Amino acid sequence: MSIVGFIGLGRMGANMAANLIGHVDQLLVHDVSPDAVAAMVAQGAQAAGSAKALGDECDIVFASLPTPPIVREAILGPGGVAEGSRVKIVCDLSTSGPRLAQDLHAALSARGIASIDAPVSGGIKGAKDGTLAIMAGGPQAEYDQVLPLLQRMGKPFYMGETPGAGQVMKLVNNLLGAVAIGVTSEGMAMGIKAGLDPARMIEVLNSGTGINSATRDKWPRSVLPRTFDFGFAAALSLKDTNLLLDEAEAMGVPLQLGQVVRSYLERVLADYGPDADFTAMAKVVESDAGLDPERGA
Ligand code: NAD
Repeated sequence: MSIVGFIGLGRMGANMAANLIGHVDQLLVHDVSPDAVAAMVAQGAQAAGSAKALGDECDIVFASLPTPPIVREAILGPGGVAEGSRVKIVCDLSTSGPRLAQDLHAALSARGIASIDAPVSGGIKGAKDGTLAIMAGGPQAEYDQVLPLLQRMGKPFYMGETPGAGQVMKLVNNLLGAVAIGVTSEGMAMGIKAGLDPARMIEVLNSGTGINSATRDKWPRSVLPRTFDFGFAAALSLKDTNLLLDEAEAMGVPLQLGQVVRSYLERVLADYGPDADFTAMAKVVESDAGLDPERGA
């Protein structure tokens, strides 16, 4: 009988956890938000009550939490998952960087718990549809045990035994995704200032070599309609970019485009507040170009 736990039922976690219901013997969940827990209980999960309770009652615990310090605290901190008596595998689905993955591996293996890092890509829609790209690192035997569950959430890719291998892959993926938004913002601002129709521009880019994840998904869904609600917070994107740049610097790999994206994201937060979506990068670039970012669609 496999009892599975899930901590962190936010925009991603709630959808990923929902895809496990009916495919595990029991799904226990926890979140600091009682509303998030209640929504999962309404779908058939059971409330664990605390992070430690997940560790006491579950064989495998998944985490989808916002930042590395929160992941560290929820798993290794006092009253955390690792204090539980039953848990054998912790699988971190959050984007929390390779260094935390290495720390989790060291601390958890000392307690006889295996650690798998398995960050995901594909946004809220991918989480809902069970079509995420999942990039995993950690011991092969335990990866094989979580594989059928990861397959409920999307398409898993095993990147190797090295703790953090999945996290490195995810940071590289995010660099490309965020740079695509930045460069698309720049190109679009130039075209709009020259009088081109933005919707027509996106049509052309998506038929030409300029096509990228921003022209394909972000502009049609959130920038052309001026809703800026793609569903990934600029604050989380900045967190990912900082993890990426720190790691790259430690490795001696210069990432100049990453630096530009970081400064755009810092501007998004400064100009549009802590809840702004990362697609608001377009507004920052438009405003630098002398366009009115508050114009309608
Ligand atoms: P979110 O802020 O929507 O959800 C986080 C959830 O964690 C919230 O429900 C919050 O209440 C809960 N939480 C916070 N601290 C907690 C604690 N100590 N114990 C228990 N629960 C706690 O974030 P999200 O968008 O779902 O992102 C989660 C992770 O997935 C992040 O690492 C993010 O970078 C990554 N990610 C997000 C997306 C996206 O499109 N949103 C895509 C890929 C990866």
